[in-house]
Amino acid sequence: MADLNAFVTREEIPSTEEGPLSGRTVAVKDNISTEGVRTTCGSNMLADYVPPYDATVVERLREAGATVVGKTNMDEFGMGTTTETSAFGPTENPAAPGRVPGGSSGGSAAAVASGEADLALGTDTGGSIRCPAAFCGVVGIKPTYGLVSRYGLVAYANSLEQIGPIAPTVEEAAELLEVISGPDDRDATTREEGGRADYSGAADGDVDGLDIGVAPELVEGADEGVVEAFRAAVDDLESRGATVHEVSLPSVETAVQAYYVIAMSEASSNLARFDGVRYGVSGGYDGDWNESFAASREEGFGAEVKRRILLGTYALSAGYHDRYYAKAQDARAWVKRDFDEAFEDVDVVASPTMPVPPFEMGESLDDPLTMYLADANTVPINLADLPAISVPVGETDGLPVGLQLVAPAFDERTLVRAGSALA
Ligand code: GLN
Repeated sequence: MADLNAFVTREEIPSTEEGPLSGRTVAVKDNISTEGVRTTCGSNMLADYVPPYDATVVERLREAGATVVGKTNMDEFGMGTTTETSAFGPTENPAAPGRVPGGSSGGSAAAVASGEADLALGTDTGGSIRCPAAFCGVVGIKPTYGLVSRYGLVAYANSLEQIGPIAPTVEEAAELLEVISGPDDRDATTREEGGRADYSGAADGDVDGLDIGVAPELVEGADEGVVEAFRAAVDDLESRGATVHEVSLPSVETAVQAYYVIAMSEASSNLARFDGVRYGVSGGYDGDWNESFAASREEGFGAEVKRRILLGTYALSAGYHDRYYAKAQDARAWVKRDFDEAFEDVDVVASPTMPVPPFEMGESLDDPLTMYLADANTVPINLADLPAISVPVGETDGLPVGLQLVAPAFDERTLVRAGSALA
């Protein structure tokens, strides 16, 4: 097979101990710090950046016996849904030639789908694990906010993002989650709950008595072929003893807007550190600080990153803060409440992961709005801090379709149980 461009850097980081992942190879997304191995975030800004320390998750991989085989391609700083905004060129989708692998963790999903790595780590701010898993026909888990340490992750929108596993099967994704999850003194947002539970032990495929909610808001409007594959999978779960209920999530209509206001606002503040002095390409200081700052950012950042910094800065500026950022926070609280209410009646909520099949290469690049709208089913989960899994459930016109299951906070075991029934 021709090179998919799934990796920005291929370099082995050997394991330090024998453990549950001995003999397994893991690809790591290039926004997760690796000591001595460059970590670019898919950006020219960090093309030569070599971190002096390992992220907690990388430390845990090595202790668990895994061999890290390289750093995977991604949308620049995680901003995208196709992996095309990478400064290192796009990644091909091994499951759908000529199509994007999804994003922003497209390199990680492509590496797993093509067998270039047994397992991979991605990050999910608004769908970046689940989208590429769905588009490449593999499994991805976005953990509950606070289950996995973000120490060593280069921040895009820190109130929304989590590191999580991408794997060929639900059981293998659960095994990787077991290794990376659990509290960390170096990330104060990690929580005791759920800790290093036995997730893989839950992969028994038993859905007898499971109550599944389907919200029309997350199904209507999706591509017909996607909906067909989704419905067939839900019917299959029903035939194995699950019960399907309709639930209502009216707030999700506001989720894409709220997500992008919050994500861009956080990004504009997080990315202020790339000034060519502490980090990033040098703007060549010649006496004028503003000019050198602007020159560094002009050269270092791509178009999508610049767009988001501008919009985020605007949303936070005096006079507009209440109109945009504060309102988005209200919408976020509403989305949380809606899911809380749904979980009074059901154990999981099911939907198509992506409302569309994988885009053709180049199709969405000039049309950011279409790209943002493709995140309609994934971003509500990050707004609500909840866990979700994407599992492959067949194809439409030969293109992979993923089904998303969402559970209450720290109930990843139920996701693994129900997800394993679909495989
Ligand atoms: N597509 C979304 C965005 O561009 C999600 C990205 C992500 O989860 N990192 O922000």
